Amino acid sequence: MAMRNRVFNIIACSLGALLPAFAQNTADTIEAHLVAARTAAGFDFTGTLARLCVAPPLMLGGIRDVAPGPPPARDTWFIEPAKVFDNLYFVGSKIHSSWALTTSQGIILIDTLFTYNSEEEIVGGLKKLGLDPAIVKYVIITHAHGDHVGGAKLMQDRFGSRIVMGGPDWDSIEKSVHGYPEGKPRRDIVADDGQKITLGNATVTIVTTPGHTPGTLSMIFTVMDNGRPLTTAYSGGTAFNFPSTVANFDTYIKSQSKMAAAAAAAHATILMSNHTEFDNAVPKIKMLAARKPGEPHPFELGERAVVRYFAVTSECAEAQRLKLLGQTK
Ligand SMILES: [Zn+2]
Repeated sequence: MAMRNRVFNIIACSLGALLPAFAQNTADTIEAHLVAARTAAGFDFTGTLARLCVAPPLMLGGIRDVAPGPPPARDTWFIEPAKVFDNLYFVGSKIHSSWALTTSQGIILIDTLFTYNSEEEIVGGLKKLGLDPAIVKYVIITHAHGDHVGGAKLMQDRFGSRIVMGGPDWDSIEKSVHGYPEGKPRRDIVADDGQKITLGNATVTIVTTPGHTPGTLSMIFTVMDNGRPLTTAYSGGTAFNFPSTVANFDTYIKSQSKMAAAAAAAHATILMSNHTEFDNAVPKIKMLAARKPGEPHPFELGERAVVRYFAVTSECAEAQRLKLLGQTK
């Protein structure tokens, strides 16, 4: 029976005996990959499992360059901002995340929602939290889809923030004819693998993870929980809404292995995503409000769980890849 164990080999090398449950081969059948994904998801990543494994649509055409639709009703997306760590603030929506990492020299913003809600959630949210949007020095965009890049032009034009993005995604913005009716952000910093975005006392390390888009960026950074440093692995692209080809799934799977290894090497105990359905940001923020002294931070999952997240994304992708190949053995 064919075996595919690329992810687990890398994870096993990185974590040694820490992950015996995952240092095993998975039979290369759709069913075996789905079972492996379900096991890896546990109760932590049911949203990711549902989106990627239960009913992921195959995308058999190319990417369409279309204008964004009309904004949905405000009550479908609006949520209040929140302080989540000593140095990390949520200024996202119910569905999408935007995070402000505060440093001794200003703010690094990660992702910018849609054009229609970035003004209220990000600019308004920072102000509500007592933070000045004018000190956002860097904006890191995980990928150039409208739900993450929508506020980049606003931050660039109004506050002079430097915009960091993967090269292929800058290219896609420049090539787009219909996607940016309100204007495009101007090409600024092109992120490289391993690049460190440093501002004052904070550093964000970029991990390029092509797959969701060719230029998708993931990252590693440190947050402080009542003065205690914790390492965060931030996954920059998740769903399979790229053209469904075996080569694209291979690229995606390789990136999940790469990010799992980077997270393990950094001893990340927090997993964040840019969609709240994948990292449960909204319920976790609610839990945080009820946290009592001495209780663990709801975002702190532990090293094993962080690595399990990337086993979910990878195993679901393996199952989809096999469906594409028509191997239903
Ligand atoms: Zn996307």
